[in-house]
Amino acid sequence: MSKGRAAAAESEVAERPLRFAVIGAGMAGILSAIRLEEAGLGDFTVYEKAERVGGTWRENTYPGLACDVPSHLYSYSFELNPDWSHRFSPGPEIQAYFERVARKHGVERRTRFGDEVVRCEHADGRWRIETKSGHRDEVDVVIAATGVLHHPNLPDIPGLDAFEGAVFHSARWDHGVALDGRRIGVVGTGSTAVQIVSALADRVAKLVLFQRTAQWIMPQENPPFSEEEKEAFRRDPESLRVAHQNLSTLFTAFSNGVVDAGSAQMKMIEDACLANLENSVKDPVLREKLRPTYRAACKRLVISPDFYQAIQKPASELETAGIERVEAKGVRTRDGRLHELDVLVLATGFRPDRFIRPTEVIGRGGVRLDALWEKRPIAYLSISIPDFPNLFLLNGPNGPVGNFSLIEVAELQLAYVLKLVDLLRSGRCREISPSREATERFEAERVEAAKSTIWATGCRSWYLDDRGVPSSWPFSFDRFRDEMAAPKLEAYELL
Ligand code: NAP
Repeated sequence: MSKGRAAAAESEVAERPLRFAVIGAGMAGILSAIRLEEAGLGDFTVYEKAERVGGTWRENTYPGLACDVPSHLYSYSFELNPDWSHRFSPGPEIQAYFERVARKHGVERRTRFGDEVVRCEHADGRWRIETKSGHRDEVDVVIAATGVLHHPNLPDIPGLDAFEGAVFHSARWDHGVALDGRRIGVVGTGSTAVQIVSALADRVAKLVLFQRTAQWIMPQENPPFSEEEKEAFRRDPESLRVAHQNLSTLFTAFSNGVVDAGSAQMKMIEDACLANLENSVKDPVLREKLRPTYRAACKRLVISPDFYQAIQKPASELETAGIERVEAKGVRTRDGRLHELDVLVLATGFRPDRFIRPTEVIGRGGVRLDALWEKRPIAYLSISIPDFPNLFLLNGPNGPVGNFSLIEVAELQLAYVLKLVDLLRSGRCREISPSREATERFEAERVEAAKSTIWATGCRSWYLDDRGVPSSWPFSFDRFRDEMAAPKLEAYELL
């Protein structure tokens, strides 16, 4: 045997076998399973509480569901798709894409469906996993791919229980309820509500949008890809890669812009949103109701090709008086008016601070994640937590979120995690977690940087934590890429 092969064989022998649990079979969980297998780390189970893969794309099935990140960017870099139907493809097509990719890579076979992880406890250097059904597992590494916008935010509007019609959150759409020709109310004006309104305005007898805060709307064209274009992508996969790369570059510029409220990109977005409002809404009264009083992109920017058209349709009504309460027949607004309705949709967003939970996570020395995160979730570089060794979060707290591809974010994070895992595999350490000092230093720097972002310019949004500090990555996306390229081991405790 040559010297090189002998050394390689020796290092193979010395390799520590590692068992993994991946929690969640959404976009990031599917990615984890594929990358673990590729890296030769095939001893893992994906735990999924639902019966299908897909995460947010499985749970959201509301009319008009689409992704406002271009499809050729919102794709795995290793599974580019020549067949996207539109520049911004609809939700069911995205769900089908994830199912296809998962099936192709055998992820479904590796997934325990319909069983929720209820507890992860670190004991004797490993993680003890327990599921709702009582199944137990013991693993070396946990990857929490549990999603950001997962737990519905249910509004505490008085009288919701008294409503005689159908009422549901946008992420719990009841497809048994008829919509055509009926009277529908939608609460909220985020990306979800805007897509629902655009989809329903022509189908219903009456559509009342209950707006608490007006939104800036970034215009967007959404042309279909022709058969010729799809065929060209199929024939030349390199052109798909170039399309993905070009979009990534474009969105990187945007992501670099949002973290500097004074940037030229923010000015361009402001101008485009303002022109959209001025040019698209004819009635001056309606236009003023739709005019936000804060800066564009302060809230997560809503992107829509047709919302302003939809809200001007004969069946549509924009209600800004504020909801007083819900009654048996409909919604009573503060001006005393009763909007009689058959269906009430709560497009009221999510609780992004509920990462991983309600799973009980207990780290080294009995530290409870719930206690540690009592005020707000904090993680070093959004990925790992002191005293929770070998537990890694994808799309975790304070990471890059916004109008760009979370797939790209998760891919960069997972590549970083696999570099840390290599330290475990090679035997350099058995446990790895960030030091408290490094985590506190990072958090202090992050909070300081968050002050100059567009998200801190004076609006209410799900980006803001309990103190009103934007809970997202406040540095450039280039910096995020750099940080993810190589872990700084001095920030970690290796045991
Ligand atoms: P959201 O952006 O958090 O919007 C929630 C809406 O509900 C806001 O208009 C909010 O009003 C309103 N609201 C909340 N509680 C209320 C109450 N008690 N009374 C009246 N109104 C209330 O939620 P979302 O639209 O579901 O979107 C969440 C995120 O999901 C987006 O920001 C985006 O990241 C993602 N998303 C992405 C896409 C996509 O195409 N990529 C599509 C949909 C969603 P205020 O503004 O006054 O707080």
